[in-house]
Amino acid sequence: QALKGAEIRRLFLDFFADRGHEIVPSSSLIPADDPTLLFTNAGMVQFKKVFLGQERRSYRRAASCQKCIRAGGKHNDLENVGYTARHHTFFEMLGNFSFGDYFKAEAIEFAWEFLTEVLKLPRERLWVTVFRDDDEAAELWMKIAKVPADRIVRLGEKDNFWSMGDTGPCGPCSEIIFDQGPKVGCGRPECAVGCDCDRYLELWNLVFMQYNRTKDGRLEPLPRPSIDTGMGLERITATVQGKTSNYESDLFAGLLRRLEDLSGRHYGQEEKFDIAMRVIADHSRAAAFLIADGVLPSNEGRGYVLRRIIRRAARFGKILELTSPFLFSVARVVIEEMGQVYPELNQNQMTIEKVLEHEEQRFAETLEFGLRLLSQEIARLRSRGEEVIPGEFIFRLYDTYGFPYDIVRDVAIEAGLKLDMEGFSREMEAQRARSRAARRAADISAATIYQEMAQRGQGVRFVGYETTEAQSRLL
Ligand code: ATP
Ligand code: MG
Ligand code: MG
Ligand code: MG
Repeated sequence: QALKGAEIRRLFLDFFADRGHEIVPSSSLIPADDPTLLFTNAGMVQFKKVFLGQERRSYRRAASCQKCIRAGGKHNDLENVGYTARHHTFFEMLGNFSFGDYFKAEAIEFAWEFLTEVLKLPRERLWVTVFRDDDEAAELWMKIAKVPADRIVRLGEKDNFWSMGDTGPCGPCSEIIFDQGPKVGCGRPECAVGCDCDRYLELWNLVFMQYNRTKDGRLEPLPRPSIDTGMGLERITATVQGKTSNYESDLFAGLLRRLEDLSGRHYGQEEKFDIAMRVIADHSRAAAFLIADGVLPSNEGRGYVLRRIIRRAARFGKILELTSPFLFSVARVVIEEMGQVYPELNQNQMTIEKVLEHEEQRFAETLEFGLRLLSQEIARLRSRGEEVIPGEFIFRLYDTYGFPYDIVRDVAIEAGLKLDMEGFSREMEAQRARSRAARRAADISAATIYQEMAQRGQGVRFVGYETTEAQSRLL
């Protein structure tokens, strides 16, 4: 009987508590007084000031299981979700931290012991990566973990230099990779550790925090070298359970079951429907957690990310031939299954469900209409033998029907077409210049309505808006 996700979360925290770490609860998805960051995207975010030496805590070692969103800003996986087996917009990151206490050797020792002795992963399938010329880390892996030299890979900035955002703590890192075998992934002859496909699954990142990146891009040394690690709970759980996709772990079983019930289809039978189920399962978690932390749909910033997430899920509902609204019913499973660990879900159950239902209802008609226009456009392109959806058209869908471009992208992928993103960006820029002030006004009114709804709580029912979103934006 394989360990459950919830058990792995517990084992991780216990393991580090036993080794002198303070167990710190997850912080909000909205970073506290940090305007540089859209969402909490890693476990270290709540410790940023401690790393920078601007804040002291009563402990020098900590461990946590942190709620993360990667759907905007420097770390953005929104467009991966559905298509890869390992990416989510919302996920839980397990992490251990040293604030000027232990450094590379202990970080490596702890991680290796946890994976191979507590979770009993087979050593021969584990690889490690180090940053370019980090000989010290490579040596330590050989010495402490007895990893053979030919399974230590050196990679560059993209993979092995971690930064929280454009500014803030950063440093070289070293990662533990699990080889899922040749059946998983792209199968190209050049596929190896560092490939973007799912075969060499990155499980755990050990960051050797040494610098603060300043606004002008300089790297200032931190007061004390520190450790920041992160391992996705969904990935490690799937791996321990012998699954090659996060979505096949027990953490997603209830969500997929609800989607099977709603759609009358089985997961794992047809790729097209599987993608849709993965997107909806993932996005319902993200939406539920974002709303629980106080984000409401809007046309800007965090609220717009939430709106994109909800709308993308709604579009994939069409693939499953679900009659909207359905998201609140999937979100209910999120609340039921995760409310124990994250009580904010239970506390905000009504708001979560109402906001989702309302937002989906509000979008239903324009979604229908926009999709029809899109398929007409695709038919037109096909009849002319063209392969690129014009940027101007993508912009018009966005501007008139509130279609985030990622919906068009998903449809294009299904139709085997490309997108003229340059043209789209050009139109967006022009629009921004035109209507900055107008949009701000509309946003305030939408935000007020949602805020009122949250305050009044459960009993509120919305009958809809009198104006379309595009109209209200121009008010
Ligand atoms: P990948 O290369 O697979 O996109 P990453 O290098 O961007 O991952 P890190 O920033 O190093 O990820 O984050 C630390 C760990 O968090 C990863 O090793 C992985 O286990 C987990 N993780 C990162 N992004 C996601 C995601 N979108 N969904 C689920 N887990 C994730
Ligand atoms: Mg990534
Ligand atoms: Mg990576
Ligand atoms: Mg990484």
